[in-house]
Amino acid sequence: MTELDSIRRTKIIFTLGPASEGEGMLEKLLRAGADIVRLNMAHASHEWTRMAIRRIRAVSGRVGREVAIMMDIKGPEIRTGDLSVPLELKAGEIFDFTVKPGGSESSGSDQEIRSVDVNYKDLVNDITVGDTVLVDNGLLRLEVLAKDEARIRCRVLIPGELKSRRHINLPGVKVNLPAFTEKDRGDATVGLEEGIDFIALSFVREAADIELLRQFLAARKSRVRVIAKIEDQSAIDNLNEIVAACDGLMVARGDLGIECPFEELPVIQRRAVRTCIAQGRPVIVATHMLESMIAQPVPTRAEITDVANAVYELADCVMLSGETTIGKYPVECVRMLDAISRRIEREADDEWRPRAVFTGERMKVLNSAVVLANELPRSKLLTFTRHGFMAQGLALLRPAHSSILAVTPSPQVYRQLRLLRAVEPVLMPLASEPNETIENAIALLRRQGRLAPGDKLIIATDILASDRLVDSVQLRTVR
Ligand code: PEP
Repeated sequence: MTELDSIRRTKIIFTLGPASEGEGMLEKLLRAGADIVRLNMAHASHEWTRMAIRRIRAVSGRVGREVAIMMDIKGPEIRTGDLSVPLELKAGEIFDFTVKPGGSESSGSDQEIRSVDVNYKDLVNDITVGDTVLVDNGLLRLEVLAKDEARIRCRVLIPGELKSRRHINLPGVKVNLPAFTEKDRGDATVGLEEGIDFIALSFVREAADIELLRQFLAARKSRVRVIAKIEDQSAIDNLNEIVAACDGLMVARGDLGIECPFEELPVIQRRAVRTCIAQGRPVIVATHMLESMIAQPVPTRAEITDVANAVYELADCVMLSGETTIGKYPVECVRMLDAISRRIEREADDEWRPRAVFTGERMKVLNSAVVLANELPRSKLLTFTRHGFMAQGLALLRPAHSSILAVTPSPQVYRQLRLLRAVEPVLMPLASEPNETIENAIALLRRQGRLAPGDKLIIATDILASDRLVDSVQLRTVR
């Protein structure tokens, strides 16, 4: 397996869709440096999902770049039902959301009141008079005036066109939908059968939501990693416990920007990134990073600065959604993220860094390896990892300039390592004797051109000392 890219530290996720699913386009996106492909199950059939996963694996093999696959399941999402024609809602109009069969049929004095069905029948119990209902990413805003068991009566505050199956947000409302739905189970089953690497759970509100998915995975002996998508105020209120419970976090700015006051969004992003780094969890900054590139070949200046900000904040990944599902310039978007990340990474050395507050001895050893790497120009860290935890420990310390060569014998761990900032995965069997493993890795990396004579290698690994395995840090100069 050849490695095409060895020096960008911030990882790139793109979402697969009509604009990117063709074999030729996928190949270009992988060659441009994509690390992880996201499948958004809100818009995917099982047939398409199986086709997509098999195609990604085939193209990865051909290109020589094994990317990871992240299945994004939709969780507790509320949507409007089908409409035969879109409705143009007017400011001040009285409008009903109906939750019972037949509830949308107007009668008596309601003759002139228009309505749409909602896919969640207990909505009337969760919602209160005075609450706000946002439809279609907040493009329509309504205020609840009254409710009965069949309908929620609202006044339109911000008018616009209502189309079929639009997403509904209810800022501040605790929705009692299950966190891991029947649809999610069906989708996840297909994902596990096809060998996905990550599952991203939408609308995680508390740590217990993640537990439901963990139980599902444990019952199937799956090692798929769980990404918690934080999208509303409850997730922010429970941020510490959610970060502790997940394997990685996604700052899903699309829904966050609707559910929370908009001026809070940068504050939430920064806090989420720092909380993840402090607790040793990878973090993804998602949505609208290069939104204008859906239609234009170049981003706005503000978008360039937004991507740069995520890199300055030391996030692990940046993510593309509409830009690569329906956009006209998917490859240019990946190239743009690549170029901005590389440039900003050269600047980021003096930015905020996590303070090393660690309880375990192993983390102290890893910290000493990173301190050493930060002192030495032309240094690379090298570690050996069966499940990815050694690499994750080094990554959370955010080495200033060294990348982390992480050798694993597991193809799935190899792909999962793509999520971690500054980690370069290496697939290689581990020998029974630690020093032999180190020698084999150096020889392989020299052959692959990823190490050159004169490079300083800081090796964080266990070694045999008087028949006991002990954690160690070694400094070697590559010959
Ligand atoms: C988001 O809301 O930012 C997000 C990534 O979620 P989705 O694309 O599933 O709406």
